[in-house]
Amino acid sequence: MNFALTDEQKMLQEMARDFAENEIKPYVEEDEKNQHWRREIFEKMAELGFFGFCIDEKYGGNGMGFLEGVLVIEQIAKVHTSWRMPFNMQCWGPALTIQKFGTEEQKKHYIPKFVSGEYVGSFAMTEPDVGSDVAGMKCRAEDKGDYFLLNGTKMWITNGTVCDHGLLYVKTDKDAGARGVTCLIMDYSLPGITRRKIHDKVGLLASDTAEITFEDVKVPKELVLGKVNEGFGICMTQLNATRLGCAAGALGLSGAILEASIKYATERSQFGQLIGRYQLIQQQIAEMKMNHDALKYLVYQAAWLKDRGLPNTMETSMAKLFGAKVVVHDANECMKLFGSFGYSEEYPCGRFLRDSKQFETLEGTSNMHTMIIANAALGFAPNRV
Ligand SMILES: Cc1cc2nc3c(=O)[nH]c(=O)nc-3n(C[C@H](O)[C@H](O)[C@H](O)COP(=O)(O)OP(=O)(O)OC[C@H]3O[C@@H](n4cnc5c(N)ncnc54)[C@H](O)[C@@H]3O)c2cc1C
Repeated sequence: MNFALTDEQKMLQEMARDFAENEIKPYVEEDEKNQHWRREIFEKMAELGFFGFCIDEKYGGNGMGFLEGVLVIEQIAKVHTSWRMPFNMQCWGPALTIQKFGTEEQKKHYIPKFVSGEYVGSFAMTEPDVGSDVAGMKCRAEDKGDYFLLNGTKMWITNGTVCDHGLLYVKTDKDAGARGVTCLIMDYSLPGITRRKIHDKVGLLASDTAEITFEDVKVPKELVLGKVNEGFGICMTQLNATRLGCAAGALGLSGAILEASIKYATERSQFGQLIGRYQLIQQQIAEMKMNHDALKYLVYQAAWLKDRGLPNTMETSMAKLFGAKVVVHDANECMKLFGSFGYSEEYPCGRFLRDSKQFETLEGTSNMHTMIIANAALGFAPNRV
């Protein structure tokens, strides 16, 4: 495996860094405070082709793969972690999944619109009573001949109040467990849908999150992605891609934590010398640096394997799980390193800590990823492509 980046990849990284510094950074504090999802940032990301990674050029893709996508997400998440989310909501969630499972008509209609940002996307499986146990979902789509009649509630849905279309996983056979799940390319303009923004999140404050209720929604049958009752496999395939986006976000955040900690340790003096000169502070910095670099290799490795169509479920889970451990640990150390200033909103330590905790839950909890890794390592489950 060769992690030396090409000149093109380095240029892409630089372009993403400039974009994040110039277009996202000026709004971080305001958007955190107001819990505001800024459409202009989303539109500019789309204009730059950020939602076209792994997408065929004939559907508007940018001709680049997972590794390039990861490099961009890393730079964006380093500046404001909330903005890692649209990569999954547009690109590796809906667009890539439709590219894998859709009819030619669906591909031509939906993918270019997710990639260009004309449609704001989402994916929804979680419900108030159902999270990790995806097959246990209750949101029900009853076959009424010409259409499905949809009833139920989805919870914690990113882009929930702003999405136009997105993947929606529902139960079409309520007694069949995983074999009763169907994936719909949901149209959120259909009558009978109520959306409520969740305002009391701990972090990811500039990302929109909502509860969505469906009440007797008539869903046309052509909105089914793949086959009826075969949505569980689609969901697992989708999650294996979006998890990488999540891990790349953790990598970006860990870079921000490391950078801020080094800056502070080389500016703040106590007892007549820089705190970075004290061994106990050096231990914190060394650990953060090791964590960040080790995470980078895990994330890039998973992307590299995906780009080559090689088995990667275990490696993707390792990147995601390790990413969660690293950012939660390092954000905590960062706040300690900053002393009382770390505890004030004058510095970003509070945001780092708030944003770090998402990584233990989203796209599969840390427990779920531990099981995936162990089962693959023990040979109890295959390490899938
Ligand atoms: C900001 C935010 C954005 C989100 N965006 C989306 C989105 O866009 N779409 C979407 O569908 N969902 C989304 N989610 C939901 C998220 O994916 C779920 O919360 C997550 O899958 C966990 O589900 P849960 O919260 O119901 O926890 P539960 O599944 O109830 O788990 C509770 C605890 O039990 C543990 N646990 C559960 N089962 C087992 C087991 N078998 N063995 C060991 N431990 C177990 C878990 O690890 C966890 O610690 C989002 C959540 C947040 C906070």
